[in-house]
Amino acid sequence: MAVDYKALKDGGFMRQVQKNRFSLRLKVVGGNLNAEQLLTISEISKKYGDGYVHLTSRQGVEIPFIRLEDVEAVKAELESGGVNTSVCGPRVRTVTACQGSKICPSGCIDTYALAAEISDRYFGRELPHKFKFGITGCMNNCLKAEENDLGVKGGYTVEWIPDACTLCGVCTKACREGAITQTDNEILLDKGKCNNCGRCAKSCPFHAWKSEPGYLLSFGGTFGNLIARGEQVLPIIHDKETLFRVADAALVFFDKYAKPSERFRVAIDRVGWDTFKSEIKAAYRG
Ligand code: SF4
Ligand code: SF4
Ligand code: SF4
Repeated sequence: MAVDYKALKDGGFMRQVQKNRFSLRLKVVGGNLNAEQLLTISEISKKYGDGYVHLTSRQGVEIPFIRLEDVEAVKAELESGGVNTSVCGPRVRTVTACQGSKICPSGCIDTYALAAEISDRYFGRELPHKFKFGITGCMNNCLKAEENDLGVKGGYTVEWIPDACTLCGVCTKACREGAITQTDNEILLDKGKCNNCGRCAKSCPFHAWKSEPGYLLSFGGTFGNLIARGEQVLPIIHDKETLFRVADAALVFFDKYAKPSERFRVAIDRVGWDTFKSEIKAAYRG
């Protein structure tokens, strides 16, 4: 019987240059694997692979040198060890994330939780081409949100609390956007210059900034054959309901307008950013 290489690839088994050997891509959400999963992967790589794994550029793990005849056994043993295989081809890929506020002092949002929610909702969904989500916890952008088809960056909306402020001047120096001015008796915030980085709130020794966490979304990033930076077309979003409504609209746009094998960015460029923005803004407004 002919081997269905497409089905194997769709399920994460990618053909190697060596005949009938496959590098198996595993499902990793937000860059995290627990100790039990790591043990399972280690055992499988020794038993069925060549005793090593490859770490991909998008927080993925691959086990090279799986034999064609071992595919089903590998899948079953991975599953019983709590490890799932990943996907390839035209669908939503691995959701990547930095450490975020669970671990990193600079984090504005819980990237782990959001990665899991996005993965549960969209992972593997079929689309005209691959689609990548990436989540970074703050403006330092360690995860490089704008490289992704849909990037999420954590930020804060800030508000000065006059009664708590000692006019020490720390936040004025911390703001890299020149959005804060200090007078003899108050702090002035220029919201037009503020990029929601939250450095003022994080640096204030007297907790004199109220800070509300939120999500800054970028659309149409790609960093392969075509290199383009994702564009932010909405203000900061403070609730997950709106975030998912907007993300749903982005995928609907991709499905509706893109030609087969056309990347999200290319589809937006061809159809027009004005059309894209109007559909995304309608979803944002609800
Ligand atoms: S992007 Fe921010 S939250 Fe994420 S790891 Fe970097 S500094 Fe920490
Ligand atoms: S850092 Fe805090 S206390 Fe100091 S001037 Fe800014 S808001 Fe006021
Ligand atoms: S959030 Fe960032 S840009 Fe906005 S005022 Fe504070 S430090 Fe400046």
